[in-house]
Amino acid sequence: MTKHIPRKRFGQNFLQDDSVIANIVHAVNPQYNDIIMEIGPGLGAITKPLLARVNHLHVVEIDRDIIHRLRQTFPVDKLTIHAGDALAFDFAAVAATPIKIVGNLPYNISTPLLFHLASYGQSIIDMHFMLQKEVVERMVAEPSTTDYGRLSVMLQYRFEMEHILSVPPEAFWPPPKVDSAVVRMIPLPGRCGHANDEQLLADVVLKAFSQRRKTLRNNLKGWLTEDDFSALNIDSGIRPENLAVADYVRLANYLSAQANPVPK
Ligand code: SAM
Repeated sequence: MTKHIPRKRFGQNFLQDDSVIANIVHAVNPQYNDIIMEIGPGLGAITKPLLARVNHLHVVEIDRDIIHRLRQTFPVDKLTIHAGDALAFDFAAVAATPIKIVGNLPYNISTPLLFHLASYGQSIIDMHFMLQKEVVERMVAEPSTTDYGRLSVMLQYRFEMEHILSVPPEAFWPPPKVDSAVVRMIPLPGRCGHANDEQLLADVVLKAFSQRRKTLRNNLKGWLTEDDFSALNIDSGIRPENLAVADYVRLANYLSAQANPVPK
């Protein structure tokens, strides 16, 4: 086979460090009968060692040339290739039982992909992803830190997350311009309360963080009055980064209990 030329538009930075690959597989802890979906298998750096441990593997890949290579490399009875865009993929349709998901993700689509995956919490056992280090820092950030934002709130609402490995650019070919990290995500509904209307929670969080430097009072103007903030026992003078995930959930539930939730 001719050498594959990495495509920038598909975020192709292929893993070449065997110890990083071994660490990822170890973290996934694949069991023979697990149903595992790999997002963006590329040239198979993670696919191959995973296939050595499990009976069967699913992958979703967008690049036609890579799909052709995968078909030539792996037997069809071991690898199911879903050709297409992971952003539009229905992860609940892979199996009747919850699945594990893994991937060295294309960094250019990682945030929308995480939001897409967040809606499949019930269909997922756990997920292990290689991401830009800065994105992982935002995902696991605590309130009242500069990294804490919409991504932290929306993902922490649904998942317990752990930074498990830092990875330097040299671990990839070609090397990306940024540092990377591996994160583990485990769905844990109810940890920060239950939002009665998850779309409303998403809308409130988006609105609250629309201007980070402004207060909640300012950002949520038209949605919550000073009386509403008092009833919720939330100081309207704080900034969005100061409010805990559970308080965002309380705020969304307060709004969803109103006859006309938004805007006021
Ligand atoms: N897993 C391989 C590795 O670790 O060496 C490749 C990782 S590379 C960072 C990202 C992979 O995702 C590439 O194979 C790329 O073609 C694929 N990809 C990019 N955008 C995608 C999308 N929207 N849906 C599915 N796969 C995508």
